[in-house]
Amino acid sequence: MKIKNMLLKDGFTLSFEVFPPKREGSLESLYLTIQNLVTLEPHFISVTYGAGGSTRDKTVKIASTIKNEVGTEVLAHLTCVQATREDIVGVLNDLKNENIENVLALRGDPPQEEKVFIKTAGGFGYANELVEFIKAHDNFSIGVAGYPEGHIEAPDLDTDIANLKRKVDAGADFIITQLFFNNDDFYRFRDRATAQKIAVPIIAGIFPIFNYKQIAKMVALSGAKIPSRFHDKIYKISDKNEEVEKYGIEYAIVQSEHLLGNDVSGLHFYCMNKSDHISQIVRDLSLPTQKNVTTPE
Ligand SMILES: Cc1cc2nc3c(=O)[nH]c(=O)nc-3n(C[C@H](O)[C@H](O)[C@H](O)COP(=O)(O)OP(=O)(O)OC[C@H]3O[C@@H](n4cnc5c(N)ncnc54)[C@H](O)[C@@H]3O)c2cc1C
Repeated sequence: MKIKNMLLKDGFTLSFEVFPPKREGSLESLYLTIQNLVTLEPHFISVTYGAGGSTRDKTVKIASTIKNEVGTEVLAHLTCVQATREDIVGVLNDLKNENIENVLALRGDPPQEEKVFIKTAGGFGYANELVEFIKAHDNFSIGVAGYPEGHIEAPDLDTDIANLKRKVDAGADFIITQLFFNNDDFYRFRDRATAQKIAVPIIAGIFPIFNYKQIAKMVALSGAKIPSRFHDKIYKISDKNEEVEKYGIEYAIVQSEHLLGNDVSGLHFYCMNKSDHISQIVRDLSLPTQKNVTTPE
């Protein structure tokens, strides 16, 4: 089913994000994680696309397994990095052949050896061009990325939202946000997007912290700010993994409940290919469309 139609039908989506593991052996463990996540009855699971198309085949394979074997709807990420139009057509055709109906259209980050994003000859410079191309190619439901604190390269939030509007005007059906820890950033972003006449649903990206070391890496990658109260608390318990995970779970529950109380269109959990902490969070939430989620014996 298309995510666009799920959002119309239920007015809310619960979703999880996983990534293709680097080592072949870890694939089995990812499928176990997916089996656990599926018991939480998500509307869809998304599968990321590695730098420079490095996971192209794995992304398609994992997405296909989720859709066709596990029986859960899927969102396949796709980036423009080091890809020509022909490469993109190849991926879209692979997805179509696997009955995958939803694509998250992204520009992608520059490869490690490059400081800025350089458009590949015969490819795309911005995600709005990819959205337009996918729209013309086939009938996928298309999602795009949004940044509550502004994209790292954007001069300011309003310019970034104007660029987000280009993606929506090109045909995007929904937005999934970068992770954030301060809901006020999300509400401000949503208000400003509405003021710029962006009318598609905005799904909030939630990253439950379960390990202190993750924080620095994740902040460097996403540019997300950590509220000082949150950071101080985590820092004090940084050498006690169980306590960090417990606090991360509590924080994600409070953050999600507040978003649910403020009409969020969806919650998208960055799972880091783990399910235990996600299960604890989701089972504690009063989700609008949750259907008989049962606790395992
Ligand atoms: C939910 C989510 C999932 C993600 N999944 C992946 C993944 O699977 N793989 C991966 O490699 N990365 C992923 N990313 C990271 C993403 O690729 C990076 O954040 C990347 O730097 C920007 O991608 P974008 O699609 O937002 O780019 P764009 O929307 O193209 O924006 C990039 C920058 O250019 C500006 N801009 C946009 N359009 C224009 C225009 N027409 N003219 C001038 N300026 C413009 C924007 O303001 C922004 O600063 C994900 C991010 C999110 C939020």
